[in-house]
Amino acid sequence: MERIFWVKCPKCGGRFCCDYELRHSNLKLICPFCHEQFLDAESPEIDERL
Ligand SMILES: [Zn+2]
Repeated sequence: MERIFWVKCPKCGGRFCCDYELRHSNLKLICPFCHEQFLDAESPEIDERL
């Protein structure tokens, strides 16, 4: 099973999960709710569950 992590969108506050390959990368995440693009470092809340 692939590892994932959860982020919170800095714009709309929606939570969604991303592939862990995007963690600590310079690739932008795209919010599925408002389509905001942001880096994981910009997320106000990150949940890295194992
Ligand atoms: Zn959003």
